[in-house]
Amino acid sequence: MDFLAGIRPLLFSYVLINGILITLQTKEEVLLDMKATGGELGWLTWPVDQGEKSGWEVTQRTLNGSQFYTYSVCNVGEREQDNWLRTTFIQRRPSASRVFVELQFIVRDCNSFDATSLTCKETFNLFTSEADADVGTTFRKGQFKKVATIAPDEITGKNDLRINTETRVVENLSRKGFYLAFQDIGACVALLSTRVYYKTCPATVKSLASFPETVAGGENQALREVSGACVDNAISEELPRIYCTVDGEWVVPVGQCQCKPGYEEVKDTCQACQAGFFKAEASNDKCEPCPANTQKLDSRALVCPCMDGFYRAPTDPPSGPCSGLPSAPRDLTATTTQLSAGKLLLSWNPPEDTGGRTDITYSIECQRCEGIVCQSCGEKIRYEPANTGLTDTKVSVSELDAHLNYTFSVEAHSGVSVFAVEAAPRAPRPPSTSALTTSLHYTDPPKITTMRVVDRTSTSLALSWDVSPRRIQPRPIRYELTYRKKDDNLDVTTYTVLILEKNSVQINELAQGTAYLFRVQALTSDGSPGGSSIEEQFETLPEGRLTQNNTAVIFGAAVGGAAMLFIVVVVLFLRRRKRNSHSRQGPEDTYFSSSEQLKPLKTYVDPHTYEDPNIAVLKFATEIHPSHITKQKVIGAGEFGEVYRGILKVPARKEVAVAIKTLKPGYTEKQRQDFLSEASIMGQFSHQNIIRLEGVVTKFKHAMIVTEYMENGALDRYLRDHDGEFPSFQLVGMLHGIAAGMKYLSDMSYVHRDLAARNILVNNTLECKVSDFGLSRVLEDDPEGTYTTSGGKIPIRWTAPEAIAYRKFTSASDVWSFGIVMWEVMAFGERPYWDMSNHEVMKAINEAFRLPAPMDCPSTVYQLMLQCWLQDRSKRPRFGDIVNLLDKLLRSPDSLKTIADFDPRVSIRLPSTSGSDGSPFRSVSEWLESIKMSQYSENFTCAGVVTMDQVLQMKNEDIKNIGVRLPGHLKRIAYSILGLKDQTSTLSVFAV
Ligand code: AMP
Repeated sequence: MDFLAGIRPLLFSYVLINGILITLQTKEEVLLDMKATGGELGWLTWPVDQGEKSGWEVTQRTLNGSQFYTYSVCNVGEREQDNWLRTTFIQRRPSASRVFVELQFIVRDCNSFDATSLTCKETFNLFTSEADADVGTTFRKGQFKKVATIAPDEITGKNDLRINTETRVVENLSRKGFYLAFQDIGACVALLSTRVYYKTCPATVKSLASFPETVAGGENQALREVSGACVDNAISEELPRIYCTVDGEWVVPVGQCQCKPGYEEVKDTCQACQAGFFKAEASNDKCEPCPANTQKLDSRALVCPCMDGFYRAPTDPPSGPCSGLPSAPRDLTATTTQLSAGKLLLSWNPPEDTGGRTDITYSIECQRCEGIVCQSCGEKIRYEPANTGLTDTKVSVSELDAHLNYTFSVEAHSGVSVFAVEAAPRAPRPPSTSALTTSLHYTDPPKITTMRVVDRTSTSLALSWDVSPRRIQPRPIRYELTYRKKDDNLDVTTYTVLILEKNSVQINELAQGTAYLFRVQALTSDGSPGGSSIEEQFETLPEGRLTQNNTAVIFGAAVGGAAMLFIVVVVLFLRRRKRNSHSRQGPEDTYFSSSEQLKPLKTYVDPHTYEDPNIAVLKFATEIHPSHITKQKVIGAGEFGEVYRGILKVPARKEVAVAIKTLKPGYTEKQRQDFLSEASIMGQFSHQNIIRLEGVVTKFKHAMIVTEYMENGALDRYLRDHDGEFPSFQLVGMLHGIAAGMKYLSDMSYVHRDLAARNILVNNTLECKVSDFGLSRVLEDDPEGTYTTSGGKIPIRWTAPEAIAYRKFTSASDVWSFGIVMWEVMAFGERPYWDMSNHEVMKAINEAFRLPAPMDCPSTVYQLMLQCWLQDRSKRPRFGDIVNLLDKLLRSPDSLKTIADFDPRVSIRLPSTSGSDGSPFRSVSEWLESIKMSQYSENFTCAGVVTMDQVLQMKNEDIKNIGVRLPGHLKRIAYSILGLKDQTSTLSVFAV
């Protein structure tokens, strides 16, 4: 049979992918090619010639002029065919353990034979056998392993010729060579071509790394990892690697090579940068032209060095331009701002030539000269914000002495200034300093040393006082004189305040034979009281006595008379102490409120009323030298920086433990002032239950506020950590302390605005002290603060409704917050209103609901809380009343024995009292899960509490008995049961 008619040349080296013809990158290394041999193949057939029943036969054919050999066999009519055809020994390349065998063959359709033979087959088998050497004509079937059964895709009928191509892989070859063998078991087959090859990934350069030609695949290896090497003048941090797939393709290169500094990539190679170009780093970038003010080097430049007189700062990129030095600042001027405070404002304009830089800063040098002796001002004066590193073109200088000449030099610096000096210390450079000499003439506010009466009648007193120092003042001094009757009925107190321009005054229209208290104080030029005051008591003569001596002539002019009296301010403040008055003083209407005595006329002074807040700090706080402070450990984080525990050791004083609040670096002047405002406020207070200010550090770079140290930290956390550990008596004792502190603050007309357990500190004797006095902190610091529509921040849960609604912050709103603190304390630091949202809280309060009594809270204490939460603020108790009541409770501990009940009429609905959809809980476990107490499911089941009805019957004791021991958990479960009971009854809501 001739199978070969119609064979066409076949293309094998192309594949069609997605309709696009592409050439495979793969290279094929051929080990055996039957067609290409072009001559006798010398393959072995077995069994050897058997006459009629011969097996595989070789036939020589000619196609398109070239000769080739084929093998065929066609013993379809014979039984038990087992005809073998074995190739010659195929040498293997050591790394090629995986070869491809591509066969072209034709198989005749068994049906195409006239007499269909039952033995006719349409497949044949491919075998292989490995060997280390050619075994010649020795052939043992047993040594061959089957690779595959080869079946045609298309079989050849009588008239058409169908050529099949099949490729099989022979893997895991390890010996020097191998044979292939084809076993025919009774088919009619012609083997037209056998091609044995392996694939390689060809040598390549990828990402500037070269990789050698690599045999694809290996023993159990789909990917073969290959290491490469960077091309010349390229470097890589990681050894470059790539993978060669079984199909001979390179994939996934790892570890890129990059051209070295001074070289750039040009078509898979690294070429030197041209002259005038540079490349500073190994990268894929191109070389760049040298920047401004640099020298152009020959090829291969890594950087372009600066031209003479130009520099680069270390922070400048090497690729950046070089810059020159700045010229001197211009138009330096000094203006006196607050003469009395020894203060000047220096200002100037930026230098004309900045040297091409934007990082211009200024430093100030100061020389003070007394006569012809000049010396550096050193630390004697204060610069605001600083004397070096200024970016602004002005600085405020204070604490200057009067009558001295000061020379201020302002120097402009830029990032390259110091390098310029290092690089060429003697090189001429543009002057970068401007200098200005100025002097100050002012005097400290004078102090009043003595006050005396120079004349008196039954209705008038003429007074005069002495001033120190006596030297000539640059401006006339003004004085503030305050007086009132000594034995005034405390319920109605009249102060008179006079502002005078002379150190004497006559006051008329006084009561006869009456003692008056007078206080006089000099005013600074900005109108604020300065220096120390003096206070004296003088009496008018009894009725009938006209005058004491003749000096009255001097004081002929009475109050109200011409030049002597500059302004007369009469403040009449009637303090009504009618217990049930509906009007209540807010901070805004109590500025002139009287305290019980004229001295001290103690009213809290808002540091913001000072034009310069730094003066307020100096006035209310003691300056501490930082060397007296030792920081030991960070104990908290405040709004402005860390809070440390530490030691304060002032010479000649006992060492004390202190808390040190610090101001983090990079603060603005506004932040520094806000930070120190807390000290200005705290420094005005002196009370056992108010955190005590030890002092401040303001004259050094790192500002600090030093307060007494409170060992047990914030009250809320302390109570949470000691849940259930204190009896009510002790908790009420704590509240008494807090109330006493708050009474003191309200007496001083200070409204705290952020009273909460987190802002109460506890010391090691469990004394509680009110803290957190910053001006901006309520608005900015408190994490509980919630933004209001007007932009402020309010801690909703602690704040009285009128303060939320229209910012009416008063001592009465502080009382509301105190009620919340009472609740927090009695509930051992529980969060008020639990996980209700702020919105839900406001709604509930508005609907007249209030927090329920904490567990085991004495009824009297809860009643007081409810009083603090009265909607009408004028009906709330005052801190004085609260202190008195708590005092009474502590004196008769029996009053704490009756425990408050849960009152569903007024109590806010408790969290998780029904399923999320408002429907009742279906099971005990569903309920426990909703209040996050699932861990007790088993306790309930074991105790036989399996229905919600049973749960509703439980008392606190029962909950304890089933094994809920932690006070917090006990409370949560008990509260929830109370809430559930509330839901089961339909009660109307009564307003409190
Ligand atoms: P503050 O910026 O005042 O809120 O302080 C932050 C935290 O530092 C507080 O919550 C306390 O834990 C801690 N702290 C502040 N002052 C003191 C102090 N005087 N004694 C002990 N701890 C303090």
